[in-house]
Amino acid sequence: MLILKTRNELFDFIQYINAKNLSLGFVPTMGALHDGHLSLFKRAIEDNQYTIGSIFINPTQFDNQNDLLKYPRTVEDDINKLESVGCDAVYIPGVEDLYPNGLECDTIAMNGLDLVMEGEFRPGHFQGMATVVKRLLLQINPTRAYFGEKDFQQLQIIRHMVCALKLPVEIVGMPIIRESSGLAMSSRNMRLTPDFKKKSIFIYQSLLKAKELSSHYTPQKVVSKIEKMYLNTDLKLEYFTIVNEETLLTANTFDDCKNYRAFIAVFAGDIRLIDNLQIR
Ligand code: AMP
Repeated sequence: MLILKTRNELFDFIQYINAKNLSLGFVPTMGALHDGHLSLFKRAIEDNQYTIGSIFINPTQFDNQNDLLKYPRTVEDDINKLESVGCDAVYIPGVEDLYPNGLECDTIAMNGLDLVMEGEFRPGHFQGMATVVKRLLLQINPTRAYFGEKDFQQLQIIRHMVCALKLPVEIVGMPIIRESSGLAMSSRNMRLTPDFKKKSIFIYQSLLKAKELSSHYTPQKVVSKIEKMYLNTDLKLEYFTIVNEETLLTANTFDDCKNYRAFIAVFAGDIRLIDNLQIR
């Protein structure tokens, strides 16, 4: 596997791919890779002649500096995992390769998709994320790029950005990979205490409960029932909401011809976890 550490090294690889007109799959990550990430790589490898991943902890998408400092860094281990699944190349750029003019974000129109949920509770997060994804897409010029539904709001924002900027890439959304307990895999899980790891199983259970309740109750009623359930746990609920999958706007009713998804953010101690589930 090629390990490309600068924009110049990446450029030679991309020139080779473009000259031969090969299809290229791209999986952007922040590292600390787990089976959720690897599912994206496996699919990219199946779909394309070549696959490249990136590992870059993007400073501009962290609204909390402590979270940035404590974000797990396991590059050697990540490289071994990517090699073992048969990835062709990994781009591990420095900050200057993506932010040559300092840590300024581009202004990217998101049509309100960034104003709710993660956007509301993590100011600036999506401008930072979209800036780095846009710059990576422009540098790599992939045929397809792969994103997990674990970050469903991010996926919808990227779809919108790619369409608005007319970037010539197909965006592929991939299902959430969970541990056998139901807990959605996340790089942040490795920072959970064993006690909170056990307690966090409740997150997926509450999403399943919401799905069950949604066949009998209005969205608001489902939300209030779930919120009450969290009062009896050690998890601190930041938000639980049910939205239209396409617009990400709060659902007032369940309309049979639309898709609805429940989204949740909780603090397990000082670790912030998110999850979501299509409920209708
Ligand atoms: P991250 O390294 O957290 O930025 O994630 C990189 C990509 O992997 C994003 O598209 C995530 O949505 C995706 N991802 C993270 N966790 C999972 C998971 N449990 N299942 C599927 N995809 C995931």
